[in-house]
Amino acid sequence: MSERQFFGHVIDGEEVPSTDGATFEVWNPWTREVWAEAAEGSAADADRAVASARRAFDEGPWPRMARAERAAAMRRLADLMEERADDLAWLDTTNMAKPFAQAQHDVARSVWNFRFFADHQRDHTGEVYPMDSGHHTYSEYGPAGVVAAISPWNFPLMMATWKVAPAIAWGNTCIIKPSEDTPASVTLLGRLAAEAGLPPGVLNVLNGHGSPAGSSLTADDRVDRVTFTGSSATGRAVMASASSHLAPVSLELGGKGANIVFEDADLDNAVHWAVEAIFRNSGQICLAGSRLFVASGIYDEFMDRFVAAAEALTIGDPFDPATKFSSLASRKHFDKVSSYVDSVPLDGGKVLTGGVDDEGRWLVRPTIVTDLPVTAPAYCEEIFGPVCVVNRFEDEGEVVALANDTRFGLNAMLFTENLSRAHRVASQLRAGTVWVNCFFIRDLRTPFGGVGDSGVGREGGNFSREFFTEPKAVVMQIRR
Ligand code: NAD
Repeated sequence: MSERQFFGHVIDGEEVPSTDGATFEVWNPWTREVWAEAAEGSAADADRAVASARRAFDEGPWPRMARAERAAAMRRLADLMEERADDLAWLDTTNMAKPFAQAQHDVARSVWNFRFFADHQRDHTGEVYPMDSGHHTYSEYGPAGVVAAISPWNFPLMMATWKVAPAIAWGNTCIIKPSEDTPASVTLLGRLAAEAGLPPGVLNVLNGHGSPAGSSLTADDRVDRVTFTGSSATGRAVMASASSHLAPVSLELGGKGANIVFEDADLDNAVHWAVEAIFRNSGQICLAGSRLFVASGIYDEFMDRFVAAAEALTIGDPFDPATKFSSLASRKHFDKVSSYVDSVPLDGGKVLTGGVDDEGRWLVRPTIVTDLPVTAPAYCEEIFGPVCVVNRFEDEGEVVALANDTRFGLNAMLFTENLSRAHRVASQLRAGTVWVNCFFIRDLRTPFGGVGDSGVGREGGNFSREFFTEPKAVVMQIRR
């Protein structure tokens, strides 16, 4: 067996083990083997990482650098990521069984996160407010300070860079704590940041579990902003902890996305996106279209096609180019998703296709469920796996009420060829993003975030600027 790789912390530009030498095992969920070890961050390691970021902010060049210079440094990092794109994708695929082509796509999006936010801060404009009193006020956006970023395992590199890139673009310094399930690609990102010449302490990586590594970061009063992506339950703990020192939080949390297919939808398009929305990344997507509502008039035809498309997905080794669908990311997550699938018949539901793999793999096949009461846990809780619950509906009013009947409000999709209906329904859906006749399309200038249990705040473009800076009003007298 080949030697295990090691992923340390990256603190002050150096990769280091934990102070006490503790490590944890890193699994490959497809082979069900340990392939690496990572440093287990303690409170002392979190302290080191925050001290490094604090020093880099208070004394280092990064927040004081010309905007174009900072943008150039971020672009150097993006270029290095592009050169190492297949290595980064290899780490995510090995670490969580994401099909390799999807991991490559995530890396490209991660590179773009750095390029976009580098240019966005370099080229930004402020506001001027002419005043009748003979003054004018202008706004200035200064860096906020030290940012603690905590990310999940479903898009290991992409979710981390979505936070780190705007944070450092605006002159902050940061500590990113990736999920304990997927430390690999973010550690390589930390190594590349040092190679790209980012000053020490600007981008620190702290590996380890939610507690103590993550919780030590959120509770540290030297941290000025906390940006978190993960489950709603952890989001509550993160917000409570950050409130002890009044650090603003941005929370991107769970979802239970509604996907609505109207009678006049282009069925080929709707089936294609319904499959992508719930089975891409084995359904481990906060934005998954996990509640599907199909108009009665097309229900039978749509369902025949949807089930056939789900059954046609090639399941297998995530490195095989033919594979479209693979294992879940960990044993623990497999147990969680399986228990929801097992609950379906007990709650009166029907599994039309899919179910738990019977070959001992950590795999749940693309699963489509009908006839569940709206109170069943599999219907209303976030499963975060490849399980789609389907309902039929008669009219627009009914389906809007059904779609909005959830604690979550991250996103929704609707499929219709009727322009007025598209606008009308989109504006009534309680969700941070509504996709019409498409899914998963993002422009980084737009607001991203959720309503209710799906989150607090928005990130993207100027929304990220609001969060990662301290806007200042400068009031000028004009002598006449
Ligand atoms: P999780 O909440 O278990 O963990 C997320 C991160 O928080 C991990 O790094 C974990 O170590 C850390 N953490 C755990 N406890 C902590 C604590 N007390 N203090 C500080 N940090 C702590 O979530 P997960 O299982 O990794 O990810 C899946 C969840 O993430 C799903 O609910 C999914 O919907 C959500 N998610 C949301 C978005 C979004 O943009 N809204 C995107 C991706 C995933």
